[in-house]
Amino acid sequence: MSSEKTLAEAHTRVRGFASDNYAGICPEAWAALQEANEGHAPSYGEDPWTTRATEALREIFETDCEVFLVYNGTAANALTLAHLCQPYHSIICQSRAHVETDECGAPEFFASGAKLLHVGGAFGKADLSEVERLITARTDIHYPKPKVLSLTQATECGTVYTVAELAALGELARRYGLHVHMDGARFANTVATLGVTPREISWEVGVDVLCLGGTKSGTPAGEAVIFFDRELATEFEYRCKQAGQLASKMRFLAAPLVGILETGAWLRNAEHANTMASLLAQKLTALPGIELAFPCEASAAFVRMPLPLAEYLAERGWHLYDFIGGAYRCMCSWDTTPEDVEALVAEARAWVGRG
Ligand SMILES: *Cc1c(COP(=O)(O)O)cnc(C)c1O
Repeated sequence: MSSEKTLAEAHTRVRGFASDNYAGICPEAWAALQEANEGHAPSYGEDPWTTRATEALREIFETDCEVFLVYNGTAANALTLAHLCQPYHSIICQSRAHVETDECGAPEFFASGAKLLHVGGAFGKADLSEVERLITARTDIHYPKPKVLSLTQATECGTVYTVAELAALGELARRYGLHVHMDGARFANTVATLGVTPREISWEVGVDVLCLGGTKSGTPAGEAVIFFDRELATEFEYRCKQAGQLASKMRFLAAPLVGILETGAWLRNAEHANTMASLLAQKLTALPGIELAFPCEASAAFVRMPLPLAEYLAERGWHLYDFIGGAYRCMCSWDTTPEDVEALVAEARAWVGRG
């Protein structure tokens, strides 16, 4: 039937590099989800799956952290920032940060007026001296007092803060009495890139709270808010509940996380996505007129290309965002295949060949 064919075609076209949350649920998450669906379990996080997810995170981060699960990353970030601030405080972030550009004002909304202040910096990373300048620029009562430094790892430009960069930013924050929040929607990818243990780029370098992504690692929904400083977590569960982020059937947020954490898929998926992004970056930039906008350090290749080529690709169903990071973003996921990479490259090559 023709309607079936249309659906199949639409499906084929959706498969691509627009976003890593276009991808489905990875097998490990799916299996755990199915297992969690056997019988009954207590609600609101009192279930064995939530305990297992918490234990798995404590093991992976090698510390006795406090863990909360929420539905998505915007909630994780916004509620965390709100929890670290009074309404008269400010939060420092890089100007391209998701909390600034992609959360519809949720951090300011939940923080009851706390203000986001931005700094620049190359390739999506907050510049250390700009952060210090902003912290010290004003100390008078008329200015919103800086209280949190928010860092995104990996950045919105697909780059990765090194251990040394994080340590320097963490030390700076500590020196001025700021908390450090990390938006780790793609934290796993950076563990893979740097070849470090998770603690080396989190609590060891001064991160107080990490919002750890689940969806971009292959789960259907659910992000973990991890307080390394347990004192800071006091009453956070009330904030989640008030914001509509306390899942009643929490085991279905927890189980997929257990699935990827206990099997190691969280890291394998990240390594795979990173490898595919590198391959794509290498093949695309081999073509004339295409160059990398930022170093390809995690699961995305950001490229500059002639507008007619981008339009041609869009016509052929290759949807690429160009408002994130300021270049065409080719985002890989846990299930991107070398064939997917070659399919996009072949189209670009064909356009170049037509001269
Ligand atoms: C995807 C993403 C989030 C989470 O977004 P939600 O759509 O709210 O789950 C947060 N930060 C960054 C950098 C992201 O890429």
